[in-house]
Amino acid sequence: MGKCALITGGSSGIGEAIAVRFAEEGASVALNYRTRPADAERVLEQVRQAHARLGAAGLKSCAVRGDVAREEDVRRMFAEVGEAFGTLDILVNNAGIQQPAESHWSETEDFDRILGVNLRGAYLCSREALRLFVERGIRGVILNNSSVHEIIPKPKYLSYSISKGGMENLTKTLALEYAGRGIRVNAVGPGAVITPINNAWIHDPKAKAEVESHIPMGRAAEPAEIAAVFAFLASEEASYVTGQTIFACGGLTLYPEFRVAWSSGE
Ligand code: NAD
Repeated sequence: MGKCALITGGSSGIGEAIAVRFAEEGASVALNYRTRPADAERVLEQVRQAHARLGAAGLKSCAVRGDVAREEDVRRMFAEVGEAFGTLDILVNNAGIQQPAESHWSETEDFDRILGVNLRGAYLCSREALRLFVERGIRGVILNNSSVHEIIPKPKYLSYSISKGGMENLTKTLALEYAGRGIRVNAVGPGAVITPINNAWIHDPKAKAEVESHIPMGRAAEPAEIAAVFAFLASEEASYVTGQTIFACGGLTLYPEFRVAWSSGE
């Protein structure tokens, strides 16, 4: 690949898998993390090992601390990546949070916090990346980690649903605005993935079986299966793809309730 990538929220879950996969593809990898340097270091070690296996000279890696919702943090992160790599080719807006609440009892602070990370963060990071791409004439790539909830409503997760719905328009609008400069903007929409954001059910066999009973393919995804879609979209294999969300969801976006012909009889 020979590219330089920045992955937000890269110290766990899907972000971790993307970092490792990109390193395996021969990218220099900058990991953004918010609060846990030890987790970032654990992922960086995997990145370094992947680079060593490739044996390619000059591949770099670094961790950059910062809250993607804070403009000053985002500016500093990009400056640090600039110092470490000298350039940037790929931004992955992966950081994301959610919190359940009945919408009529939901708190304004939670709404602001969730939109702040999931949508404002993606906007701030995209803007910094685009400034660099435009100034230097880089035919860069921006990839957003969206969700099936970009298009499927998620009751009791109003802020999360709004943020992912907004991400669809962020993806499409930036894709259209920068297509003429050769900059591509796409998203991946995962279904249920085995990551810490799902700690409520991934370690409980009964709860996991209940979740998986709703998925047409009958199982949740491993983070590496989602990272593979990011790798495709980041690569030249996707050179003519922009403004799209690829749903990697085991069929969740296919209206699973229609697996049986309940609406028209047998
Ligand atoms: P995760 O909790 O492991 O990852 C989220 C990451 O974001 C964490 O590393 C966290 O530290 C980081 N983060 C949170 N707030 C941040 C901030 N303010 N600044 C920087 N980083 C911050 O869970 P995950 O499943 O790997 O989630 C990654 C993305 O995938 C999220 O955007 C999530 O919405 C999306 N997603 C996940 C699933 C799933 O089932 N796991 C499904 C669809 C979409």
